[in-house]
Amino acid sequence: MAAQSLIIIPFGQIQREILEFLRIELSQIFSFDVKIAKTEPIPQYAFDPKRRQYHSTRILEWLKNIPVTITRILGVVDLDLYVPELNFVFGEADVAHGVCIISLVRLRQEFYSLPKNENLFLERALKEAVHEIGHTYRLGHCRDTRCIMHFSNSLQDTDIKGPDFCPRCKVKLN
Ligand SMILES: [Zn+2]
Ligand SMILES: [Zn+2]
Repeated sequence: MAAQSLIIIPFGQIQREILEFLRIELSQIFSFDVKIAKTEPIPQYAFDPKRRQYHSTRILEWLKNIPVTITRILGVVDLDLYVPELNFVFGEADVAHGVCIISLVRLRQEFYSLPKNENLFLERALKEAVHEIGHTYRLGHCRDTRCIMHFSNSLQDTDIKGPDFCPRCKVKLN
């Protein structure tokens, strides 16, 4: 893969361990330089008081105005995200601008009243990040249920797929 870089932008309070984990894993998977930027305030402009959720596309719009020369930006929020057509989203990507965002809220077992599982949580966060970054490289959804680019309708889909791209997606990525 071509040498490129990624900046992770946390919005609001995000556990440092998660950001560090993503930084290390993403730099290996994509073989690029990954940096963690300073924390941005909670994006109140994206909050919908009726839904009590944050509109992910509005945050992407904010991200794409960042004047940087690097190629990719990943926003990380611990806030529930939505787009108008759906009840929620795990993340969203803007292909044209190379920016994407993931939410950590629904990746925790505790969200579903299940016992905490930190490793599973980290794994899910990584998968969502790789998936959204994959979109910024113009990869669409893949039919291979084991491929990271497979669409996650639920966490079951996320847990089934690996953190890797299938051979076909890998070719497209390169
Ligand atoms: Zn997707
Ligand atoms: Zn694939």
